[in-house]
Amino acid sequence: MIELKTPGELAAMRAAGQVVATALATMREAAGVGVSLLALDAVAQDVLVEHRAKSSFLDYLPSFAPTPFPAVICASVNEVIVHGIPDRTRLRDGDLVSLDFAAIVDGWHADSAISFTVGAPRAADTALIETTDLALRTAISLAVPGGRLGDLSNAITQVARGAGYGMQGDFGGHGIGRAMHEAPFVPNSGRPGRGLRLRTGMVLAIEPMLHHGGDDYAVGEDGWALHTTDRRRAAHAEHSVAITDDGPVVLTELQGASTL
Ligand code: MG
Ligand code: MG
Repeated sequence: MIELKTPGELAAMRAAGQVVATALATMREAAGVGVSLLALDAVAQDVLVEHRAKSSFLDYLPSFAPTPFPAVICASVNEVIVHGIPDRTRLRDGDLVSLDFAAIVDGWHADSAISFTVGAPRAADTALIETTDLALRTAISLAVPGGRLGDLSNAITQVARGAGYGMQGDFGGHGIGRAMHEAPFVPNSGRPGRGLRLRTGMVLAIEPMLHHGGDDYAVGEDGWALHTTDRRRAAHAEHSVAITDDGPVVLTELQGASTL
């Protein structure tokens, strides 16, 4: 069952999206060489308190996980693709950091992720991050009424493969609304012109994950973090996107007073 959101509900989701965007921007500002992942988690907690919002991640227990998620952010550094649990690890010069964050405002969830480097970047990592962002933007541009889910999925694969990166087609995004993970699943690979027909009022979290090297990944000892098997670096980008008659609306992008 795919829920279609009303314009009023989309406005409520945008409020959650703005908290998420604010937290990610604030964490990015705070991140740097020597800063611990737990310190970034604390920054996000402060943003939640300030906006009277709740974490979507804290205590989340999906079927694959051995323990409830213990933090409000996922912090995935270098070879960690997604679902990194923040710990005392301090960021080092040149690290590639992916931060994933989701929040609940008035019962509505929003979910977004960014990747960036700290200190002096490696050119190859900058290119990986830019391509991951391009894959996300390309998929977002196809999130329009009458389009197909396979169009988005295929776009992510095309951008990733076109640049020669590894990825996992089995992973991807999801519908989002009253729950963080709703139908439909939004795979990162698919066939254009196939799959679910997109309709006004759907909200999709779209999230490409690209890496240097091959496609293989493994789950870490904590049962949460996914890392590349060859230990090469990965990037992740995500936005929560509303499909509207006026085109895609990115709910998790910082915006001014514009209205839906
Ligand atoms: Mg996310
Ligand atoms: Mg997500």
